[in-house]
Amino acid sequence: MGIHTCGDLALYFPFKHLDRTRVYYIHELTADMPFVQIRGRILSYEVMGEGRKQRLVGHFTDGHGLIDLVWFNATKWVREQYREEKEYIVFGRPQYYPNTGRFSITHPEIDDAAVLTLSSMGMQPYYTIPVKAAKRGLSSRTIERLTNTLFHQLEERFPETLPTWFVERYRLMGRDEAIRHMHYPQQAELLSRASYRLKLEELFYIQLGILKLATDRQKEVHGIPCPRVGTMFLDFYHHHLPFTLTGAQQRVVKEMHADMKSGRQMNRLLQGDVGSGKTLVALLVMLLAIDNGLQACIMAPTEILAEQHLETFRQFLGDMPLRVELLTGMVKGKRRKAVLEALASGEVHILVGTHAVIEDPVEFRNLGLVIIDEQHRFGVAQRARLWRKNVVPPHVLVMTATPIPRTLAMTLYGDLDVSVINELPPGRKPILTVHHYDSHRLTLYDGIRKQVRQGRQVYVVYPLIRESEKLDLKNLEDGYDTLCQAFPEFRLSKVHGRMKAAEKDAEMQRFARGETQILVSTTVIEVGVNVPNASVMVIENAERFGLAQLHQLRGRVGRGAEQSYCILVTGYELSTDTRRRIQIMTETNDGFEIAEADLKFRGPGDLEGTQQSGTALELRVANLARDGQIVQQARDMAREVVEADPERTRPEYAVLWQRLAELGKDKQDWGSIS
Ligand code: ADP
Ligand code: MG
Repeated sequence: MGIHTCGDLALYFPFKHLDRTRVYYIHELTADMPFVQIRGRILSYEVMGEGRKQRLVGHFTDGHGLIDLVWFNATKWVREQYREEKEYIVFGRPQYYPNTGRFSITHPEIDDAAVLTLSSMGMQPYYTIPVKAAKRGLSSRTIERLTNTLFHQLEERFPETLPTWFVERYRLMGRDEAIRHMHYPQQAELLSRASYRLKLEELFYIQLGILKLATDRQKEVHGIPCPRVGTMFLDFYHHHLPFTLTGAQQRVVKEMHADMKSGRQMNRLLQGDVGSGKTLVALLVMLLAIDNGLQACIMAPTEILAEQHLETFRQFLGDMPLRVELLTGMVKGKRRKAVLEALASGEVHILVGTHAVIEDPVEFRNLGLVIIDEQHRFGVAQRARLWRKNVVPPHVLVMTATPIPRTLAMTLYGDLDVSVINELPPGRKPILTVHHYDSHRLTLYDGIRKQVRQGRQVYVVYPLIRESEKLDLKNLEDGYDTLCQAFPEFRLSKVHGRMKAAEKDAEMQRFARGETQILVSTTVIEVGVNVPNASVMVIENAERFGLAQLHQLRGRVGRGAEQSYCILVTGYELSTDTRRRIQIMTETNDGFEIAEADLKFRGPGDLEGTQQSGTALELRVANLARDGQIVQQARDMAREVVEADPERTRPEYAVLWQRLAELGKDKQDWGSIS
């Protein structure tokens, strides 16, 4: 459990406390009480029920009423342990049973009243016990005994890690006090002050580290100046633009141009919901770089996407004298050699690729801009390697369609500037999302048939938790067969992770060209594929997808002018969480709203993309989903410090810088957070 020393134990904080300051009378109990504590005696035991329902019932009284204590196993042990003549304090969740007219508590916690005196009861800590440890008999109670002993016997105080002026100015609880109150607060208010102090400190040092890096980078790393708006950009803008830019697209291009001409390196995150038109923005920014004598490169997470980008760019650019090339793992032999040479000689203006682009032998003549599309598929180390592709590091633009809630972005990409496309191109009809039980397939098929007869195309997506899981593949194969039988008049494509890249690609292309009407696939299509004629997205086993993923998938439709539909297919039995997820999906199309909900649901650790973020987010007390406000405060405080002591020489700030170094929060290499 990572506990090696008393210090580790002291920092092993409980995940919750239960208020045990109050003892209730049985006649006071109501059905909505989460936990109660009563004091009394067991009058008698009785074995009730049969087979698996057999249980031991202890009739318990406090002189003001009767309740039943219930155990389903270990009944012999219970009888020996809890004697009829002794007085106990019983703790648990009361449930009301109308047919007995009594409350009962299943598997109550029981303490000897002579040992557990009222004065030693307070807020009782509950510690997380890993399953393995629990199996070996470790319980929260055991840890409680250990921490209790520790804090009673410990004579030293935990050293303060913030300067005195800081603690006083923000009226924080001292560190020693805070650590103790985290385990044994006498009242709820002390607990909240203690956790506030520790969360703030934790988040503050993260923010201080981020801001220190960002200011260092501004001071030390120069960017390639791109002051010119030249013929390529202007020619494209005036003669080749297939539609007018949305206001948001115009704004973000301006923001990026401001970065690129500033003499500093651009490090920007472009957030825009699926379908908001990021590709076009990317092209415009690349043209700016080209106008300044530089090469540009855009990386996509998959080969299919890279190829789509290539085609899109070539189409957009038409007859403009620009050379756009593709480099993926599939470009081999002579062709590859030719592309590499043309890159090194500077003949290629725009390179479109996958991560193959950042492999070492790929040399540019003068790489000035790197765009990473759908960033969450790119590892941190991969991104860091970009920096070595030119003497002066290229400008970096990261584009993502997974909206990141503000507080999370502030922490994960704290030093990146953020641009947001908050507007969809005109004429889009909001996608209609509906929930469908899988037993009602016929009506679903009718809907699909209608759409295809009107000339539309349909995605049917199956979940795949691990690409190797045979069962998942079987699901997809069965689904494919069923659909083939249901729609003998249509042509179907099938794509999954086990297929060879070339095969997969060929199938995708067939669908993209409209040769097949229904594409049955696993989540390989999740990111970025653009088939505007597709208007129906059927998601099978929707209960197995997270919110962010569902939203991404849904974003594959609704790209044309037609009304589009997203159909979430599930079984009948759904958990409350799943129902909430599905409800959110049917209620909103707004990616940011969904991202916030997702963060609340799952906690930031599980969010797609955060594992690779490069910021080691080992948060002990703070929770990015719940503590957004504290993140903001920590950010403001850190900014004040960075601005007040830019040279890091003022004595009153020395403790802060020293602590930051101790925590190692300032040691990341810059590449890892771009
Ligand atoms: P994403 O942001 O998800 O990458 P895309 O760049 O693929 O979105 O754009 C989605 C679709 O919208 C594409 O078909 C694109 O051509 C189209 N599009 C982009 N910008 C505009 C615009 N300003 N007006 C109309 N359509 C646009
Ligand atoms: Mg895209």
